[in-house]
Amino acid sequence: MPSSTDYPHLSLLFVMMVLMIVLPSFEAFTGVVGHRRSVLRVLGDGDGSMDYALDLNSSTFDSVLKDSPTSFAIVEFFAHWCPACRNYKPHYEKVARLFNGPNAIHPGMILMSRVDCAMKNEDTLPWNASDPVQIARAIYDTEEATAQTFDILTDNKWITQETRAPLIMFLQLLAAHHPSKRCRKGTAEILVNFDDLWPLNTSNSSQGTSIMQTGDVTKVFPICGKEVPRGYWIFCRGSRNETRGYSCGLWILLHALSVRVGDGEAQQAFIATCDFIHNFFKCEECRRHFHEMCSSAPSPFRTARSYVLWLWSSHNKVNERLMAVEQEWRTGDSRYPKMLWPPPQICASCSTSTIKPKTGNTKLNWNEDEVYNFLKQHYSISSLSPPSNDETGKSSIKGVSVSDDAASSTHAVTVPVSAALAIALASCAFGALACFWRTQQKNRKQKN
Ligand SMILES: Cc1cc2nc3c(=O)[nH]c(=O)nc-3n(C[C@H](O)[C@H](O)[C@H](O)COP(=O)(O)OP(=O)(O)OC[C@H]3O[C@@H](n4cnc5c(N)ncnc54)[C@H](O)[C@@H]3O)c2cc1C
Repeated sequence: MPSSTDYPHLSLLFVMMVLMIVLPSFEAFTGVVGHRRSVLRVLGDGDGSMDYALDLNSSTFDSVLKDSPTSFAIVEFFAHWCPACRNYKPHYEKVARLFNGPNAIHPGMILMSRVDCAMKNEDTLPWNASDPVQIARAIYDTEEATAQTFDILTDNKWITQETRAPLIMFLQLLAAHHPSKRCRKGTAEILVNFDDLWPLNTSNSSQGTSIMQTGDVTKVFPICGKEVPRGYWIFCRGSRNETRGYSCGLWILLHALSVRVGDGEAQQAFIATCDFIHNFFKCEECRRHFHEMCSSAPSPFRTARSYVLWLWSSHNKVNERLMAVEQEWRTGDSRYPKMLWPPPQICASCSTSTIKPKTGNTKLNWNEDEVYNFLKQHYSISSLSPPSNDETGKSSIKGVSVSDDAASSTHAVTVPVSAALAIALASCAFGALACFWRTQQKNRKQKN
């Protein structure tokens, strides 16, 4: 059993917090008393079942903190074997949930993170394997990918007479099955106002016909709400700015949608996805390859299972092709190498490998029942928890009404930033104090 003496540099850092907090002003602490009750109510909700704080390590520490769009960061340095740290974890998680979680009251203000100083084998799981803890954070990436898609469509005036139908079909899929509630709601608002925004043109013109200025559409109708994260790519963050990001977020969104459709919708979801990529994905080569796979698909899909598995296997075909290309041209992100997915580390029952006698190459034999069960679980609601952070908006643009009637009221209790920040600070200080006290007690005992 490791003890604190095995890690002399950690003996005093048992649960000591190194806080990187920049307080904007003393105002941060005011209002705590007034809002204490509501804060405590929120904290009391936590069931401690999910990690909200972001795990950093020696490789990601600098880049994540440097690139983080948040103004503040709190970093907890701890050791996973330390009992006091383990006891402290649920308290830290409750605070992290205010800022980082899918139901964050103040998303994008503070990054709550931690470093396990005693972790030595951080590279045992390949980075693109995406274990269940990592995938839970992808909810933000599905939101960001959705918002970015809509920006691209409106900025490029790609919504034309020809592309109206495929777009409406894809928006219907998003409105019903997007893993994020605020995206479902934002998409529904766009659908309700679609004919006002992009009227059906009876003339021969096929140009984008929105009655609004390009930028106004996304301002008045933010598809995932006004507070959708930008530039985060929490799960899909590459080790360089130009890798991963949007296309990774889009894949996650497509898989998350696929596991949410029922048997009767499978064929429609397939058509909506294929037509959407064909008309709106900016990467020409990707569009072409995906279109080929759509054209040769064994459709019509009569079950959701067959559609989920087709999308998974199509993604693996892209992975397989890119594995070779990225190796040859070194264009990929070496930290996130492409692989046939899911690897045995995250789903041992999904595949078995055999060696081909002639070539000596390894061949993976997939167990599709196991893969399907794994995908359902991996991309399910419990893995990608949808934020309940709702958005309402009112249009002042003539001719377009944005009703807030449909806006479902948020069940999240509003906690002011100042109160949440003060709680975070108090909580961390308490942890450090408890540690100091324990060390003192220990020293006293040893002396006696
Ligand atoms: C529809 C589509 C087609 C594309 N076609 C091309 C192309 O032809 N050429 C090209 O250069 N790039 C293509 N791309 C981009 C490319 O696939 C990657 O998205 C990009 O290289 C970033 O890779 P990544 O490492 O983030 O992982 P991604 O491949 O984006 O995968 C994201 C995450 O999905 C999970 N995942 C991986 N494989 C599977 C699977 N089989 N089933 C379910 N989940 C999985 C993993 O957790 C992974 O981290 C395409 C993207 C999309 C959305």
